[in-house]
Amino acid sequence: MAATGTRRFPLKQRVERLRQKMQEKGLDVFLVMQPENRRYLTGFTGSAGTVVITAEQALLLVDFRYTEQATRQAPDCEMVRVKNRLEEDLPPIIERLGGKRWGFESQHVTVAQHERIRPAFEQAGIALEGVEKVVEGLRAAKDPEEIARVREAVRITDLAFARFLEWVRPGVSEQEAAWEIEKTMRENGAEALSFPMILAAGPNGVENHHRAGDRLLQPGEPIIIDMGAVCQGYQADMTRTICLGPADERFWEIYRIVRTAQETAEAGLRAGMRGVDGDRLARQVIADAGYGEQFGHGLGHSVGLSTHEMPMLSPLCEDPLPAGMTVTVEPGIYLPGWGGVRIEDVVVVRENGTEVLTQSTKEPIVPI
Ligand code: ZN
Ligand code: ZN
Repeated sequence: MAATGTRRFPLKQRVERLRQKMQEKGLDVFLVMQPENRRYLTGFTGSAGTVVITAEQALLLVDFRYTEQATRQAPDCEMVRVKNRLEEDLPPIIERLGGKRWGFESQHVTVAQHERIRPAFEQAGIALEGVEKVVEGLRAAKDPEEIARVREAVRITDLAFARFLEWVRPGVSEQEAAWEIEKTMRENGAEALSFPMILAAGPNGVENHHRAGDRLLQPGEPIIIDMGAVCQGYQADMTRTICLGPADERFWEIYRIVRTAQETAEAGLRAGMRGVDGDRLARQVIADAGYGEQFGHGLGHSVGLSTHEMPMLSPLCEDPLPAGMTVTVEPGIYLPGWGGVRIEDVVVVRENGTEVLTQSTKEPIVPI
């Protein structure tokens, strides 16, 4: 019972925060269709449905497939059964709720959908306004329950990696290794993987999103493993780079730079910084070591119900980092023909520093 109480309380707070945003933007009603945003506000995990928020009400429009589930998962919403054809579903809702300005998620509504629903609003004399990143903005700072779920996803990810280190040996393929990790995560409570695992041996490490293939793991080469479990909808995201047996000087040179860059960023991040300043903490270390050009991606991304959320630690992100954000810190250096080193943790950013959730070892050498 306690679990239900703690689950519903933050949901009401989230809807209240959305109402504040709506007021700031002068919106009477807001439509939410993006699946993770829908889940965040209501608890409903179905693949289709529309959340309709007003100053007083919260409606969840679902078709017949989801009526049972919606009633069970989203008890704070009034469930309205619809056909899942917005142009037919919305007119009676518009008539019932009225208002002058309705907002919708312009990032998540197609032009075709917009064309179909527009006439009903025009007829009713209601302005229909596309707004961006409203619920995404609310999701940036995680509440304690969300952090607990990320923490559990990270724990399962750490556990699977520790087991993998005991199991792995030269001669197994990238695919076999990836499957071994995936199995362990699933057997220990992961409901899914955050993303198809990246397991890239040797030169394959240069492709940032390499899928595990038939290359056999060999001693002495860098092997990048990027993995994450999902737990109650929340995701983990971790990378380690390992070497089977002793590593050469080049490996150690690159590995130490990446590790120092990561530790520098994890020690320096604070709530209130801009994403670009967080990114620079690590980028400066790598640039000073002469490998700035070989670090071609951002330092990290928020992680939660989705793998890539805002704000990011990136040269392109001017947004301030909110206290309570869960974000990855993942510097990397990639050398064509040789491979790459990336090390990635999930951290919670607080007012006075970070809490590193990821506990997996950063000792890269696996004895063979
Ligand atoms: Zn990752
Ligand atoms: Zn990541």
